[in-house]
Amino acid sequence: MGLIVQKYGGTSVADLDRIRNVAERVVRTYDNGHNVIVILSAMAGVTDKLIGLAASVTEAPDKREMDVLLATGEQTTSALLAMMLRSMNYPARSLLGHQAEVVTDCDFGNARIIEIGAKRMKELLEKRTIVVVAGFQGTDLQGNITTLGRGGSDTSAVAIAAALKADTCEIYTDVDGIYTADPNICHKARKLKEISYDEMLNMASLGAKVLQIRSVGFAKKYNVPVHVRSSFSEEEGTMVVNENSGMEQLMVSGVTHNKDEARITLKKVPDQPGIAAKIFSPIAETGIVVDMIIQNTRVGGQTDLTFTVPKADFKKTLEIQKRIAAEIGAEDVFGDDHIAKVSVIGVGMKNHSGVASIMFNTLARENINIIMISTSEIRISCIIEEKYTELAVRVLHTAFGLDAECETS
Ligand code: ADP
Ligand code: ASP
Ligand code: MG
Repeated sequence: MGLIVQKYGGTSVADLDRIRNVAERVVRTYDNGHNVIVILSAMAGVTDKLIGLAASVTEAPDKREMDVLLATGEQTTSALLAMMLRSMNYPARSLLGHQAEVVTDCDFGNARIIEIGAKRMKELLEKRTIVVVAGFQGTDLQGNITTLGRGGSDTSAVAIAAALKADTCEIYTDVDGIYTADPNICHKARKLKEISYDEMLNMASLGAKVLQIRSVGFAKKYNVPVHVRSSFSEEEGTMVVNENSGMEQLMVSGVTHNKDEARITLKKVPDQPGIAAKIFSPIAETGIVVDMIIQNTRVGGQTDLTFTVPKADFKKTLEIQKRIAAEIGAEDVFGDDHIAKVSVIGVGMKNHSGVASIMFNTLARENINIIMISTSEIRISCIIEEKYTELAVRVLHTAFGLDAECETS
């Protein structure tokens, strides 16, 4: 008998029929003799709806109250599943974040898990009760409800699996595994049998939202085997595990995209010591995370500076920068929130030259203009116009030999 953690995402619990489907899957695992902890998301679209409701009350909702509101989505689905399991004569209990002793810091809306007590979950499991936990939520040391950031139920699941030393953590979603690119936009994407924690960390950080990045960090740290699979089929999905010698070592192993960033440009900034600090410190102080930064070469003692921030922080950043531009004497500030970042990723890139040139040539052939470029040892990212995202992902996927029909084995 093992302990299996199963997490079901929004589409898997989108309505009562789907929650029934989840109940049946849970019961099958339970009847096979396993203990089961189920982590649930809110019904698909509910978190967005709650955010919309708050936005119609005020432009800047209080962060603590926002988390009280957002946590209700997961509270609903957990109660419904526990109710359904009990009506099927299975012992089941739902637990909210604080009842499952998920302790976080107090960064409302993006809280990090500090520890998981797990006492209550263990007591229930000892009695062979199916434990249903509301994902995405926890409680800070003052007892306030917190949420873990979008997609945070993945992290709840992996962290709980780690705390209870579960045998496996199954992430049930609306695709049947992790692919070489988002299968919803790249139909030739190939499903991977296995992916290493490190590669998945890169894919998640560059836009593959199939797993929240923090969940992959937890899985790597505590060595939790994660199985990403579909709640609508019986097919095996993708295992996220430690790197092993049997894994493919491709030059490029995946293509990702991210439409959640926006670009800000400061024109003709005086090129003097301390200017970058003046530009970026006020943004950092408000908790906004800057991603790419590009500074042009100096012309006549002035330079242009471009950087990206999350789309949600675009307006606020633009306001801050307008103020700073006036202070430091920059000529102009403008921005664009219709951009996307496409990236090619692969640990094999370390030993190959020419990846960048293939990427740039491929985009050029489609007349896609590259607005910004950033590279690391194992990835190259380009900012392009948002409307070309799907096209860029597809042509890059083909150019790097990843298309399903290119498979040789
Ligand atoms: P859930 O609600 O189950 O958590 P998400 O929408 O958060 O589901 O994540 C699943 C989605 O991730 C898929 O529908 C797919 O569009 C997207 N996705 C992005 N990149 C990938 C990838 N490389 N492999 C699989 N899915 C991906
Ligand atoms: N409901 C939350 C969201 O939509 C958390 C999750 O589904 O993982 O982001
Ligand atoms: Mg998700």
